[in-house]
Amino acid sequence: MSIVVQKFGGTSVSTPENRRKVAEKIFAAKAQGHQVVAIVSAMGRKGAPYATDTLLSLLDETEATPALRERDLLMSCGELISAVVMANLLQALDCPAVALSGGQAGIVTDARFTRAECLNVAPERLRSLLHDGLVPVVAGFQGMTRDGDVTTLGRGGSDTSAALLGVALGADKVEIYTDVDGIMTADPRLVSQARVLEEIDFGEVFQMADQGAKVIHPRAVEVAMRGNVPLVVRNTFSDAPGTRISAGGASETGGTNLDIVSAVAHIAGRTQVTLPVTSDGEAGRALETLGQNNISIDLINIFPDRVLFTVEQADSDHTEEILRGMGCEAGFVEDCAKVSIIGHRIRGVPGVMSRIVSALLRRGVRILQTADSHVTISCLVPGAQMVQAIEVLHEEFHLNR
Ligand code: ADP
Ligand code: MG
Repeated sequence: MSIVVQKFGGTSVSTPENRRKVAEKIFAAKAQGHQVVAIVSAMGRKGAPYATDTLLSLLDETEATPALRERDLLMSCGELISAVVMANLLQALDCPAVALSGGQAGIVTDARFTRAECLNVAPERLRSLLHDGLVPVVAGFQGMTRDGDVTTLGRGGSDTSAALLGVALGADKVEIYTDVDGIMTADPRLVSQARVLEEIDFGEVFQMADQGAKVIHPRAVEVAMRGNVPLVVRNTFSDAPGTRISAGGASETGGTNLDIVSAVAHIAGRTQVTLPVTSDGEAGRALETLGQNNISIDLINIFPDRVLFTVEQADSDHTEEILRGMGCEAGFVEDCAKVSIIGHRIRGVPGVMSRIVSALLRRGVRILQTADSHVTISCLVPGAQMVQAIEVLHEEFHLNR
């Protein structure tokens, strides 16, 4: 029998009415003859009683050494509660269901608490539950070490849980249910003209996710791509067909869309750092020291007399401290945003960068820095101009609906 893994995000499980919609999606897949494994996130977004940030607010953060093991144990509770509540609802609707923690579902991880990596998945228990006609409802975002400690998989981890279980079970597909109709050409909360993409390939969606499109986590895309399991992003609250992500989707073949860009993504809250360089090896030493202090840097441009890069705004003060400690007086521009276009077909097409630059400058958007790869071109812009920059590029590359 074919297996479908369905993941439901925080909004989808936030209220009794919404959880009914979730149950309908599970019943619809069962009615089509599939065995279903459901993965759930914690109920509700930021501020909700069992949302991850609310649970974390119970801890005394002034504690000198935060106990990451206990943090993970606490953070895993939101998803556990959600799994129990969802399984209970299915039972009440005459659908036999069992709630499982990530560890009970077979997700084995290393012991890097708060950002654990999956070592392997033991799907036997899920298989036997499915064989008995039950719907396993698995708490997302978590796993368990070989020693039995509970771990979490980092932000967006429930998407990763779904991809991991889908691959381990050899599922027909993994469906990511959320609150929008699929993967869109830009974040619909910022761009009213954004369109749903019918189909997209793994590579492009990975880049979108990596460049900030929050709709799916890049790790989940990577896991599904390696395991060759198709992903579908769909809306819990509509019957829209969603976006199908597979190897060599529409964007590879070109389809009917002659445009070279598939989407615009953004990351807010970046700080641009300018580091003057006076001696050989200084730049290398500074970047290395930041790395050793777990500060991740992006958009690195090296010139003979200076180095430019960006850090997460939350890391600004720490970065300044470290650089000052090395005797470097760096310049900081706070509140920047990285806006990126993504498209497989930009490779080798001349003039794409000049189109971006002209479009942005024409509309008065300041460009602080740029970077490009085969599939993406990114511009750093002032945070106050982020939405405008996204809109300008969305229009320039004919993505408006
Ligand atoms: P969930 O809780 O279901 O995982 P998320 O908030 O993680 O939901 O992801 C869904 C949200 O992602 C949408 O509400 C939307 O605002 C945002 N988003 C950002 N970029 C995109 C995009 N390119 N396409 C669709 N949604 C996007
Ligand atoms: Mg999400």
